[in-house]
Amino acid sequence: MSNPKENVDSLRNVCFQWGASLFGVADLNRLNRETILIPPETFRGFPFAISIGYHLSDSILEGIEDAPTPLYFHHYQRVNILLDTIGLLLSSAIQGKRSQALPIAASQIIDWKNQRGHLSHKHVARAAGLGWIGRNNLLVTEPFGSRIRLVTILTDLPLEVDSPMEKDCGTCRVCMKVCPAGAIQERQEDFDHLRCYEQLRAFSKTLHLSHNICGICVKACRGKG
Ligand code: SF4
Ligand code: SF4
Repeated sequence: MSNPKENVDSLRNVCFQWGASLFGVADLNRLNRETILIPPETFRGFPFAISIGYHLSDSILEGIEDAPTPLYFHHYQRVNILLDTIGLLLSSAIQGKRSQALPIAASQIIDWKNQRGHLSHKHVARAAGLGWIGRNNLLVTEPFGSRIRLVTILTDLPLEVDSPMEKDCGTCRVCMKVCPAGAIQERQEDFDHLRCYEQLRAFSKTLHLSHNICGICVKACRGKG
């Protein structure tokens, strides 16, 4: 497995067999490591990042009205476990080819103040050509909108890289109308993180959830731009 294109084809095929819905490769050296990785020095020596997406259940999302449902909460947790499992299996396959692989957890906060994980999965996914960052501050993909979750595996296995998608939300403003916190603005750069966070905390407290989740703008975003 030393041909970059053959490596990508082979890894994509197995990931889809394991249940993945999206697969792309980002050139990590073209990304600003200081902003997407914590701490950046831990991840030196990995030129590539594989981004894998899972299409959430549309039927479960359709059950969300004005708050996350118990079914969505369970689904969210199980999908994170599946993505972490795919990351482990892929890492094992890559290590079997005598290359390095570092799977980054799908949902693990390490900076609670700023609500950040080891890495921004959505920025890696954007660089891997899977979509763009939408007004809802989430990755938006053409086939599934924001109805996805992501995991990332860093590697030094030679891989053919994808290009970022040159697209945006265009005239769509569906998510702005449904956000209960008024956090979603015209410009993605103006997304109000604090309002969103406070709404998630309120859901978690009143619904007795162990995670800060919402799902309303995830359901609303069907993509296409
Ligand atoms: S997660 Fe909920 S509160 Fe946050 S932006 Fe989306 S709809 Fe608004
Ligand atoms: S619902 Fe529309 S405006 Fe909102 S993130 Fe998705 S594509 Fe963009």
